[in-house]
Amino acid sequence: MKKFILPIFAGVLLTSCAAANLGYDGKVFKKSYESITAADLKKHLYIIASDEMEGRNTGSEGQKKAGRYMIAEYQKMGVSHPKSMKNYYQTVPSSYFGTRRGNTYPDSENILAFIEGTEKPNEIIVISAHYDHVGMKDGVIYNGADDDGSGTVALMEIAEAFNKAKKSGKAPKRSILILHVTGEEIGLVGSKYYSENPIFPLENTVANLNIDMIGRSDAENKGKNYVYVIGSEMLSSELKKINEAANNKMTKLELNYKYDDPKDPQRLYYRSDHYNFAKNNIPAAFYFDGIHEDYHKPTDDPDKIDYDLLQKRTQLVFATAWELANRAERIVVDGKNTR
Ligand SMILES: [Zn+2]
Repeated sequence: MKKFILPIFAGVLLTSCAAANLGYDGKVFKKSYESITAADLKKHLYIIASDEMEGRNTGSEGQKKAGRYMIAEYQKMGVSHPKSMKNYYQTVPSSYFGTRRGNTYPDSENILAFIEGTEKPNEIIVISAHYDHVGMKDGVIYNGADDDGSGTVALMEIAEAFNKAKKSGKAPKRSILILHVTGEEIGLVGSKYYSENPIFPLENTVANLNIDMIGRSDAENKGKNYVYVIGSEMLSSELKKINEAANNKMTKLELNYKYDDPKDPQRLYYRSDHYNFAKNNIPAAFYFDGIHEDYHKPTDDPDKIDYDLLQKRTQLVFATAWELANRAERIVVDGKNTR
């Protein structure tokens, strides 16, 4: 009898351990979560938002240079692109941009990094941020450290954290697509292009977490550990709960829902890349720090970023993505796009 009981007992123990390890109390999660640091974010952001990148205007050499830096970092950490692509680039052709505000644009690129899921590799969690900014005006460089250098480096750290988990034998159950989009500043063009030319079918795209400006504070929240979250309960009653649970357990930020209303006069729900997912009925959450004094000014520089706050906000997105990727069932779509 003993011989028979023992394997069952061991089996139960093993399963519960494995399950615990994919929760927030698991060692692998904690190590990955802690690998997202203010120091790493700062190191990357001082490069992404340096004068060398010339404000990362869509299609510019400066933007391409920033892209090459990101790709080199993905290669260094051992994170590849989706298998069906020959490299990290999804080209958005010049013709797709057309003429915008009197300007035409050269070919430009979305940059995609990918961590394949173990159990449900065809179900995709998209984590996005735009890496273009507004370039230069009259010889003055707009570095766009917060907009959206902050989201860009957050994605790099999140990819590294998931990859760390993978190296420890705990790759996510669902796949993680890291999507750096181009052309946001000229009308959410890169994300629109992706949504019309998706690398993975949109039906299999479980959720989108979009980051656009998470390194600063606006006037009314100075000194607070907060983040605005927009859209998280529009399409799925579960996404907001998962984000809140991640925050309650881990990051403990004040989640501010002031702009979480499509009828808000600022219309932020429609103003960043998540909207191109939401309009296709993909549950999306948008993380944002508010309109601050350096918004779209040449003074949006890396020395003005609050790196500890950037770390916490990045960790919140990571913890939320972790649960979305590892929970048993994909989140439900039970809401509507309009209220
Ligand atoms: Zn932006």
